[in-house]
Parts: sequence; C-alpha cells; structure tokens
Amino acid sequence: MFCPKCGKETADNQAFCASCGAPLTQQAATPESPPVGISPKSRLATTLLAWFLGEFGAHRFYIGKIGSAVVMLILALIGWATVWFLVGIPFLVIVGIWSLVDFIFAVAGKMRDSKGLLIEKW
Ligand SMILES: [Zn+2]
Repeated sequence: MFCPKCGKETADNQAFCASCGAPLTQQAATPESPPVGISPKSRLATTLLAWFLGEFGAHRFYIGKIGSAVVMLILALIGWATVWFLVGIPFLVIVGIWSLVDFIFAVAGKMRDSKGLLIEKW
C-alpha cells in the first residue's frame, strides 16, 4: 500500500508511514477526531429545501437525518392542524425558528449530514 499523505510505498502491516509518520490504519488515527471530508449532498438543495419546506423537515430528510426530520414534520402537522384555534401557533413558532437556524447553517456551509460530513459543495 501507499502512504495517503506523502505517497511513499509502505509495508501492509505498518501503522504509521516510515517517511512522514502519517497514520495508515483506522486504529492508528485518533478515534475522537471529527469525520473528515465533504458531504456528497448538495448545499444548494439543502438550502432551498430548508427555506421552502424547512418546517416540514424536507432538508433533514434529504441529508439523511430522518429522526429529527420526522420530529419537525410532526410538529408542523400538529401546528397547521390546530392553528385555527391558536393551539398550533407555538408549534409553528418552534419549527419556524428551527428551520430558520437550519437554513442559516446550510447557507453558511456548516450543516452536517447523517455521517457528520460538512455540506459545503453547492
Ligand atoms: Zn508518508
């Protein structure tokens, strides 16, 4: 195999590169380190979904965060179903603020997908 950092050839069972010291195996890399790399999800799609359908959790469904997406969808449905006698207003305020915060994160490229990768690519 080859070192991903400097490209020198290394032995298969080596944990660290002999030339530059870069970790070569998953075990050698620090487990607490945040996931590296850019999400394959589109930042534009995440941003537009958060803006237009954010309160229904559409952008969270898109980036694979199904759990919180369902919570948002349920809050929005309860809110809209009961808004005519004012009960739903707090639900809609909560989900409105939540989707606005998500929108700001998405625009800024700080939103993370279900694997913890930053959604930076437009
Ligand atoms: Zn190296």
